[in-house]
Amino acid sequence: MPRIYLYDTTLRDGTQRAGISLSLEDKIQIAHLLDEFGLDYIEGGWPASNPKDTAFFQAARSLPWQSRIAAFGSTRRKEFSATEDPSLNGIVEAGVPVATIFGKASPFQVRDILGIDLDDNLKMVADSVRYLRDHDIEVVFDAEHFFDGARLDREYAVAVCEAAAEAGAQWVVLCDTNGGSLPDWIRELTALVGRRISAPLGIHAHDDAGLAVANSLAAVDAGATMVQGTINGYGERCGNANLCTIWPNLVFKMGLEAGQKPAMVQELTRLSRTVAEIANLAPDAGAPYVGENAFTHKAGVHVGAVRKHPEAYEHVPPESVGQKRRVLVSELAGKSNLLYHYEELRPGSAELAQVVEEVKRLEAQGYQFEDAESSMALLVQRALGQVPEYYQVERFHVSVTRDQAQPVTEATVRLRVGTRSFLEVGAGDGPVHALDNALRKALTGIYPEVEDLKLTDYKVRVLDGRAATASTVRVLVRSEFRGQPISTVGVSGNILEASWQALLDAVDYSLWNSGITPMEA
Ligand SMILES: [Zn+2]
Repeated sequence: MPRIYLYDTTLRDGTQRAGISLSLEDKIQIAHLLDEFGLDYIEGGWPASNPKDTAFFQAARSLPWQSRIAAFGSTRRKEFSATEDPSLNGIVEAGVPVATIFGKASPFQVRDILGIDLDDNLKMVADSVRYLRDHDIEVVFDAEHFFDGARLDREYAVAVCEAAAEAGAQWVVLCDTNGGSLPDWIRELTALVGRRISAPLGIHAHDDAGLAVANSLAAVDAGATMVQGTINGYGERCGNANLCTIWPNLVFKMGLEAGQKPAMVQELTRLSRTVAEIANLAPDAGAPYVGENAFTHKAGVHVGAVRKHPEAYEHVPPESVGQKRRVLVSELAGKSNLLYHYEELRPGSAELAQVVEEVKRLEAQGYQFEDAESSMALLVQRALGQVPEYYQVERFHVSVTRDQAQPVTEATVRLRVGTRSFLEVGAGDGPVHALDNALRKALTGIYPEVEDLKLTDYKVRVLDGRAATASTVRVLVRSEFRGQPISTVGVSGNILEASWQALLDAVDYSLWNSGITPMEA
């Protein structure tokens, strides 16, 4: 049984999608997830193209990885030798074990877009591969526009692949760069290249014709053993091949082993949702395998049938990709999941029923706990009576005024413990910042430990865009308390109220989780 190598380019091609902007911290966080899931290769970015990607590789170098980290770049430019080429040297300086370089495999692209002659292009490919191999770097060669190029001149497209393979590239990846090819064409050409070169082949497909997954599987069927794609299919235009669809298809439909940790496919849904949260994009409820609706059955004849014979309306068991069956009329949603995560909750107990009710009520309002585990833990521990009341909130007040064309923001927070009252004023760059500052000042008077609580990320998602400025918003706050990551959530029609809830949860969680006892009243 051949093993398929999963190559993720979420951090490079994925970020070309309109609406995505990943911070350095986001990129590192996603890379850690991909590593945890055993993706074979993680393409971190294009070091010569922007400082953020350079910083990513700098940070990545000092971290341990099981996946192989790849830097992306182009073959040398015509005016430079390989040794002088900035893109190639950017990769060498990134200190990565793997370089993925693309070269054009279409005569039209070479002559009319690049403006060079066909033989020079072959030399550029060979020189670039050899230069990187001389630096002991594993080379993945992406044959850009291969499938469109082969339509114009099949021999030339194959010659580009041969040039890369002969120069020592460990992988030759055939790219459907414009995403417009059909599976039969992909299958035929992949098989042809497989007969001509001995280097293992990969596929890099885009989804412009809605066929990126089908094309990737067709290539595998024809002998490709690397699949390049992105989590949730993020990518330029209509996106890249979606690894969250391809991976389970390889395993469950084609009987192949994929990735370094084959069993992790059973947690695929978590990977998809967490990456969506980090990218600050709403998860696609209709996505195959990992979408919220992928195993959701509405009341009626399906439900009765699925209860007796799940396979009646499910192509694979939901658990195989970390999903759960949802029956919309059922009262059981979430219970097993809670029991699984919180051993303290006893099956059949009143507390469990209370938590289930509470989660359902909050989710209906727009809360989501997948990326707010600390808020979820608080909810469970409060139901069990484990979280003491550390303080009472009397009021907060935020004002934004304009002074000489500059906005000035101030917040006051009044907390109470017993009969003692703590009032503080904070300023900030904006209302949430001012509120956070005032809250911290008031709390430090009661719990000096709060000084160790650091806010690391703040995200707002509008839940019902049609209501425009009156929309409900979900705020996700990430913090850190003495090295422990904390993730909390708040939802409200008022962005300050939503932020306030998330901030208070972060405070309460850090106090409770560190076993700090409430101040005597
Ligand atoms: Zn691409």
